[in-house]
Amino acid sequence: MTAPVDLRSDTVTRPCAAMRRAMYEAEVGDDVYGEDPTVKLLEAEAAARLGHEAGLFMPSGTQSNLVALLTHCGRGDEYIVGARAHTYWYEGGGAAALGGIQPQTLPFAADGSLDLATVATLIKPDDPHFARTRLVCLENTQAGKAIGPDYFAAARACCDTHGLALHLDGARVFNAAVALDCPVTAIAAPCDTVSVCLSKGLGAPVGSVLVGSRAFVGAARRWRKMVGGGMRQAGVIAAAGLYALRHNVARLAEDHANAARLAELAAVRFPGAVRQATNMVFVDLPEAELVALGAHLRAADVIVRGNRWVLHKDVSAADVERVGRALDAFTFRAA
Ligand SMILES: *Cc1c(COP(=O)(O)O)cnc(C)c1O
Repeated sequence: MTAPVDLRSDTVTRPCAAMRRAMYEAEVGDDVYGEDPTVKLLEAEAAARLGHEAGLFMPSGTQSNLVALLTHCGRGDEYIVGARAHTYWYEGGGAAALGGIQPQTLPFAADGSLDLATVATLIKPDDPHFARTRLVCLENTQAGKAIGPDYFAAARACCDTHGLALHLDGARVFNAAVALDCPVTAIAAPCDTVSVCLSKGLGAPVGSVLVGSRAFVGAARRWRKMVGGGMRQAGVIAAAGLYALRHNVARLAEDHANAARLAELAAVRFPGAVRQATNMVFVDLPEAELVALGAHLRAADVIVRGNRWVLHKDVSAADVERVGRALDAFTFRAA
């Protein structure tokens, strides 16, 4: 019996033995009292790697983005964000519900960026008719697409011109840097704040880090406490995050290579319907065919959800070949 190949998301990764050992051996203290050495180390290392002064460890990427928004914006303020951005679309409307922060959306461009000329037209004048535009929120990778340093330099310049802050939902920012073979600081440092997930391709069981200036992180710490993110002996899980940062970044290239190979195999079976970006493969088939394909793959011990198949450290090159054979054996007759 081989284990199922789970392509639903890179969140399904499980901690490896060495990561579990690091968790077992972690030095801990009460982090709400600022006494957990492992949490402090993780926050400092994450900040340094991303080119920022300070970091704040949080249980999830959703909380990390929420705390960033609550810290950047007050009630009645507005942030400019992609129409299918995670912060806007997939986080339960938290910024609006808890912060009174209004989103101004625009569609993502084909490359996953926000068109900066359009962003500029959406900034509201200083007039009581309008919400106060405070912040631009970007995403990288965006639906797997890696956006390069040049865009971030331009976004920084745009925000400086208009007096806006810049937040990056960098849940998978290390995938972007590895795919583009650029230092992650070239993407992260131009932003005022960056949220990065440890629990996706990096393979930790839980956790995100928000990085920014020392003053910003100090203010964010209050919001984190308010929304229930003050954790006690959190070093046990921070140790997994530290292990992930130290050992699992460069290996993201394997996930990208596996995704490219899976896309190649899928394109043989579904010509013209397959796209790949970093660790994600999109198979754009009619809904009925996708459902049938999902059931067929499930019978072959391959788990997928929808049209997005995600590669991660618990899927090997051999697993990808196995998925390829299962795809070859799929036939579909429309009802
Ligand atoms: C997963 C994800 C998040 C938040 O992650 P959780 O830890 O699941 O709350 C934020 N942004 C993007 C783009 C993500 O993919």
